[in-house]
Amino acid sequence: MRLVTLLIDGAPRAGVVLANGNVLDLAEAAREAPGAAGEAVRTASLQSIIEAGPKALDLVRTLADRSDRSAQRRPEDHVTMAPLPSPAKNVFCVGRNYAEHIAEGDRAQNQKVGVTEHPVFFTKPRTAVIGPGAAIPIFPHVSTSIDYEVELALVIGRRGRDIAREDAFDHILGYTIINDVSARDIQRRHGGQYFKGKGLDGSCPMGPCIVTADEIGDPGNLAISLTVNGETRQSSTTARMIFDIPTLIASLSAGMTLEPGDILATGTPSGVGYAMDPPRFLTDGDVVVCTIENIGSLENYCRVQ
Ligand code: MG
Repeated sequence: MRLVTLLIDGAPRAGVVLANGNVLDLAEAAREAPGAAGEAVRTASLQSIIEAGPKALDLVRTLADRSDRSAQRRPEDHVTMAPLPSPAKNVFCVGRNYAEHIAEGDRAQNQKVGVTEHPVFFTKPRTAVIGPGAAIPIFPHVSTSIDYEVELALVIGRRGRDIAREDAFDHILGYTIINDVSARDIQRRHGGQYFKGKGLDGSCPMGPCIVTADEIGDPGNLAISLTVNGETRQSSTTARMIFDIPTLIASLSAGMTLEPGDILATGTPSGVGYAMDPPRFLTDGDVVVCTIENIGSLENYCRVQ
């Protein structure tokens, strides 16, 4: 299934993209569904549906199969938001997870950090999340080096702590795309940390949908790419991750509970703007398109504030 959040009459509504291109409005489709699952699906929030667990998701599947005509919304009747427009927690992220990206970063900064022994984790605040088609704000008084990073992100469906590598995929509900927009000068200015430089408002474009795990194929072997104004800047495959998805989940969940609705972005391949010679940063009007096989494309444009 392709799960989405729509903006209809100013309010977010959870939906499923149907084969005919319409979106099933789940609150509407579940209006007579009984029990706790029915109640969860009627909340119109993907977050609540995910938190309600497998029964709610089974109901979503049944409703999608039935695809009641009166609960369908045509593409021209809505705006697609980030699938989880207001996550309960910060978005978890992984840094330095593709060898070519580590090499280009070390080259650009004239340093030799190389591959770390364990994954590098940081987070982006929920206020950074924006949806497809939204503007990535550029605040020139704060940063003059805004950069892009296309990343495969996974969404947790089952709570767990100390999750074993072999059980990792049982905890994943699905996958989406994140653009880990980064202010390089802020990262440097504040001692090389990630959080402030990657936490500005609008710096976490997400979407266009969550593809459930049963439909993604092999998440460890998906084509991943990014264009700026139509020019390809990043082009790789998720097979090139240094720490694979089971390793990331095992490592992040060690002594730390992961909960339904948690999001983890898995790092970016090479081709970022700051490592180009000369560096090329995003400017007003630039259109950035992130594409991942079996998910789709996430398009945003940049707007100076
Ligand atoms: Mg990143």
